[in-house]
Amino acid sequence: MGQAWDVTADVVVVGFGAAGACAALEAAAAHADVLIIDRFDGGGATALSGGVVYAGGGTDQQQAAGVADSVDAMVRYLTLEVGEVVSADTLRRFCAGSGEMINWLSGHGVPFAGSLCPDKTSYPTNRHYLYYSGSELSVPDVAQPAPRGHRAVGRGTSGKVLYSRLARAVRSAGVRVIPQTQAARLVTDEEGSVVGVECASMRHAPRWARMAHRALSRLGKKPYLYAGSVGRRLYRPVMQLEKRYARPLLIEARSGVVLTAGGFVANRAMMREKAPAFRGGLALGTPGDDGSGIQMGVAVGAATKCLDRISCWRFITPPSAFARGLLVGPSGQRVCDESRYGAAIGEAMVLRHDLCAWLLLDRALVKQSWRELRGSTLWFQLMQAVYLLTRARVSAPTVAGVAAKVGIDADGLAATLADYNEAAALGRPDPLGKPPDAVQVINQPPYSLVDLSIRPRPAYPAPMLTLGGLAVAEDTGQVVRADGSPIPGLYAAGRSAVGICSNSYVSGLSLADCVFSGRRAGRHAGERAGRQATGSASNNVGEQAGASAAAARQSLGSSD
Ligand SMILES: Cc1cc2nc3c(=O)[nH]c(=O)nc-3n(C[C@H](O)[C@H](O)[C@H](O)COP(=O)(O)OP(=O)(O)OC[C@H]3O[C@@H](n4cnc5c(N)ncnc54)[C@H](O)[C@@H]3O)c2cc1C
Repeated sequence: MGQAWDVTADVVVVGFGAAGACAALEAAAAHADVLIIDRFDGGGATALSGGVVYAGGGTDQQQAAGVADSVDAMVRYLTLEVGEVVSADTLRRFCAGSGEMINWLSGHGVPFAGSLCPDKTSYPTNRHYLYYSGSELSVPDVAQPAPRGHRAVGRGTSGKVLYSRLARAVRSAGVRVIPQTQAARLVTDEEGSVVGVECASMRHAPRWARMAHRALSRLGKKPYLYAGSVGRRLYRPVMQLEKRYARPLLIEARSGVVLTAGGFVANRAMMREKAPAFRGGLALGTPGDDGSGIQMGVAVGAATKCLDRISCWRFITPPSAFARGLLVGPSGQRVCDESRYGAAIGEAMVLRHDLCAWLLLDRALVKQSWRELRGSTLWFQLMQAVYLLTRARVSAPTVAGVAAKVGIDADGLAATLADYNEAAALGRPDPLGKPPDAVQVINQPPYSLVDLSIRPRPAYPAPMLTLGGLAVAEDTGQVVRADGSPIPGLYAAGRSAVGICSNSYVSGLSLADCVFSGRRAGRHAGERAGRQATGSASNNVGEQAGASAAAARQSLGSSD
């Protein structure tokens, strides 16, 4: 080949979030010599996340909570969300293996618990770690509903617990990690197989520059998420340090490169091109979600799938009384069943109502909402609900009056309300399928309209996350070309790849897919290393790969 490699490994994982960590753990378990690189310090969106993992079919935690669930029920419900984005076989395999997946995570130190949340909520409080995290309760006729959101145990948003435990397991497994190293291009041989990665690394930058890069990128993570422009400003010097001090680093991947570099929500040009309708939302990720993983794959001939699929979150609960209101668009017509999962509501608003919607409440529902806030919210949910009930709400003694105040069609709204109230009073099923316990007559003045429209506002942002990525073979995680043929030596997982959540996201489905797809890719790449080692004379795969791991560790010197 004639390449002068700076570092060598069997399996090189690009990106140290959930998918990367899981890929590395499985590849290491297959006795491969594994190296992870990350542009920053690792963690990615995973460490900022809610740490909710979607699993069911009778997990230990469901059993501890006395919840009945079955693989069949889980498959039936998820078929509605997943559509045809993966095959029926793959979906069943995912569902049937999800209890084992939670046990595997627990075995690597991630804590879960079976304390069941009694309310329908966007995120449970610190007392509850199992909840209805999707739209299960809205479709009881399709499948017996069951709570399947398994939140890693930890205070506040517990993605940090999930990531830190996985990161610890990765290091204990002997995987090397080179932080502050950005993959820029895949290296291929003359047959088109991926054999390495060209990177720009801060590894040999002056100590102060490395420390400043690390400190500023850590500092910028949360502002980037909650106050985009402040975060972007904090990241500017980080990029400047990279430009000034990062040096080329050429890494050989003898058995495979696994792309786990996140999605592309931070790449504005790519968002405009692939999903123009989704504007005005908050980028739910880190500056690492710049689409580089997907672009590197495309540059070597990979196909992509579902890049136009975006999850846009418009959670209206807590308080759960909000789900008893009526969500209407500018014409006064209902947007969707108000009890649906936040991403289903967001999608209906973006695609059918030009990002606009208002929630109609009456005096009784406003009162219930205030009452429910106590004890059922975390701080950020409380702030949001108070904002909605105060600054985002207008009231009037009549329906026509309140419609006029926000400028929506008063006749349309009156007709919608009359239909809804008639069905509710007669006990008829709600035309949009809202469950009966979320339906009540709305007839007590004054009437309020709460503005839920999607536009940039810090107090009530609409978080957005990209769902599509590189097309992969569903049995191996190998990246494929448009004709379905695999690109030898290239794998993808997590939000760099298409996966279980790529059609429609419900809470926990992205992290669950990261674990599922990361493990799948890592296992196959690790086994490929084993096969190559066997092919090169030794029968003792473990010994051979172990020896190459030790040699590589030595050549790399210290690992962070
Ligand atoms: C606030 C928040 C809450 C969320 N809550 C949940 C939840 O509860 N449940 C759920 O399922 N999903 C949740 N999500 C979504 C979920 O966290 C992400 O979809 C998931 O973590 C993506 O994991 P990943 O491994 O694909 O990427 P990441 O975790 O983002 O990791 C990618 C890594 O790749 C690195 N990288 C990027 N480009 C390069 C490059 N060129 N070279 C080297 N390294 C690179 C990045 O620095 C990063 O560390 C949430 C997201 C956010 C932001």
